[in-house]
Amino acid sequence: IKTIGVLTSGGDAPGMNAAIRAVVRRSISKGLNVKGIYKGYNGLLNEEIVDLSARDVSDTISRGGTILYTARCSEFRTAEGQQRGAEVCRKHGIDGLVVIGGDGSFAGAQKLAALGINTIGVPGTIDLDIACTEYTIGFDTAVNTAMQAIDKVRDTSTSHERCSIIEVMGRNAGYIALWCGIANGAEDILLPEKYDYDEQKLINNIISNRKRGKKHHIIINAEGIGHSTSMARRIEAATGVETRATILGHMQRGGSPTCKDRVYASMMGAYAVDLLADGKSDRVVGYKDGEYTDFDIDEALAMHKSVSEYQFEVSRALSI
Ligand code: ATP
Repeated sequence: IKTIGVLTSGGDAPGMNAAIRAVVRRSISKGLNVKGIYKGYNGLLNEEIVDLSARDVSDTISRGGTILYTARCSEFRTAEGQQRGAEVCRKHGIDGLVVIGGDGSFAGAQKLAALGINTIGVPGTIDLDIACTEYTIGFDTAVNTAMQAIDKVRDTSTSHERCSIIEVMGRNAGYIALWCGIANGAEDILLPEKYDYDEQKLINNIISNRKRGKKHHIIINAEGIGHSTSMARRIEAATGVETRATILGHMQRGGSPTCKDRVYASMMGAYAVDLLADGKSDRVVGYKDGEYTDFDIDEALAMHKSVSEYQFEVSRALSI
């Protein structure tokens, strides 16, 4: 292998820059060239490709977002798009590719690998929803951002003895909601994995907590479970407790990555280069049982992960 390409794809995540930096510098230290591909598979198809030197990634490890930009690309879901992607790689001399993103991005990487481009996936998503790995780049920063924001909402909520519904990211994965549920001491957590949304149960819970002297009631709602603002109106009408909704939104994606995200991203980026340098392809980097490791992309994509019932049960037990 002589030249490694790197791209970020799907939703951005804090720590992606640390991963890009690691890919660039690990490659250079092994005597390989590196090319950055802008805007995910879109930039690949449009040949938005630049040479990257060690200096080009200076001062990026602490920056949120991705210096390579990211995008979703419907054309790359077609066989013609994938064929063209492989041709562009060949044209630019890219014989190894690191794809930083989520499951969708890995499905794209798998297609390129089948077309003869050595490809490795690095898990970058704030959702922690990639089954083969215990850690995904961006989760720690995002969950800490959400936790700090919820602390602030809680201060004002307690002062006014309100109920607060706080919507966090995670349309299909409730890890941010569950972790914040414990870290912020939420009274209720609504997760997509445990979709048994029962508004009457929530209402009864708010009323019984009031009777037990609780001054606030925090409901953490993973994005996509109902409509927080109208939920708040209905709950207020049913309980008589002033209820407000706060949607944290995209703030959870931004910001300087935490130490944990920088370290995991750096290790995983370097590991991806090591795999390519060893002639490997069609693999996803993961972190499992205390070690950095790698999985076949097919196997990784076929794995399923569910939120911990025990963690959920404890979160409820601690909110009495
Ligand atoms: P996130 O977890 O942040 O959503 P993701 O990588 O899962 O990240 P997707 O939008 O699912 O995000 O995928 C990113 C891109 O990967 C898509 O826009 C598309 O270009 C490519 N992709 C997704 N699925 C496939 C597929 N089955 N075949 C080829 N390419 C795909």
